[in-house]
Amino acid sequence: MVEKFFLLLAGGVGAAKFIKGLASIINQKLLKIIVNTGDDIELFGLKICPDLDIITYTLADCIDEEKGWGFKDETFNCLSILKKFYSTGWFNAGDKDLAIHIYRTDLWKQGYKKDEITKRISEKLGVHAEIIPMCNEPFETYIKTPKKSMHFEEYYIKECCEPEILDITFRGTGKARATKKVLELIKNAERIIICPSNPLVSIGTILQVQGIREALINVKNKVIGISPIIHGMAVKGPAGQLMKFFNLDISCIGVARFYRDFLGHFIIDDRDRILKSKVEKMGIKTYCFDTMMINQTKKENLARFVIDIQI
Ligand code: GDP
Repeated sequence: MVEKFFLLLAGGVGAAKFIKGLASIINQKLLKIIVNTGDDIELFGLKICPDLDIITYTLADCIDEEKGWGFKDETFNCLSILKKFYSTGWFNAGDKDLAIHIYRTDLWKQGYKKDEITKRISEKLGVHAEIIPMCNEPFETYIKTPKKSMHFEEYYIKECCEPEILDITFRGTGKARATKKVLELIKNAERIIICPSNPLVSIGTILQVQGIREALINVKNKVIGISPIIHGMAVKGPAGQLMKFFNLDISCIGVARFYRDFLGHFIIDDRDRILKSKVEKMGIKTYCFDTMMINQTKKENLARFVIDIQI
């Protein structure tokens, strides 16, 4: 018999808030989390996986919660010197963070795959949940702007999401394939939770991996999404600009439209109650709840609501 577990699809900061709530009301061992790797980047000769790190540090309870990324009580001494040699010093890698990137790169050079490396790092940091990269193949999200085409991290951090978006491309789609394990997890999970993450460059990236979207469609009735858009706005980050580029309504309706072929249940914010019937018309069971996770209690309340939904 397969043991009951919850499967989550996650990006970084938005997902981490929800996961923090969930992990404090149920045993971490019940969580398996598929994480976006489209933000992965090589800088300073090191392999960096921003979303995997955010989720790992959150579950290891060493994240800087105020910033939403990196270690708490971090220093940036190494970066201050790296900046003298590299023009990519805009990437805020702290000293402890760099230790993780060094260890990851070392394992990669020894021939380990991304899922094996992720497992080692999370276990060493004391994480009990299972954190799984969306694929092992190289995969990168690029944003085309009037000036140039740039890696998503450069657009997000260095350019502060300011340039006009002319195109969004995913490099690596042809080869990125869901592992047998990921497909088994989708099939056997008690429920699948789509975290309140960026629909296009976090969840949308995971959906680009061959096999994942189809596998979710097959188990639609147990897929529960949480809208990252509240009252017509992203809580943080460029989701709004990206949705506009894809001709999606910047609202929970736009998110539902993007997810509709695999979404059985959708939690929209109380502030969007007026839109509930519109989402329901898409054949999605819709619930209203306070999804603005401004403190630990709100994170836990939302998590409890999600795991209590009858599927
Ligand atoms: P990133 O990869 O670090 O940008 O993180 P994610 O993709 O996981 O999360 C970004 C999304 O999280 C944004 O679209 C935000 O609107 C959403 N988000 C952040 N905080 C909250 C929150 O408290 N509630 C909800 N509903 N969404 C949130």
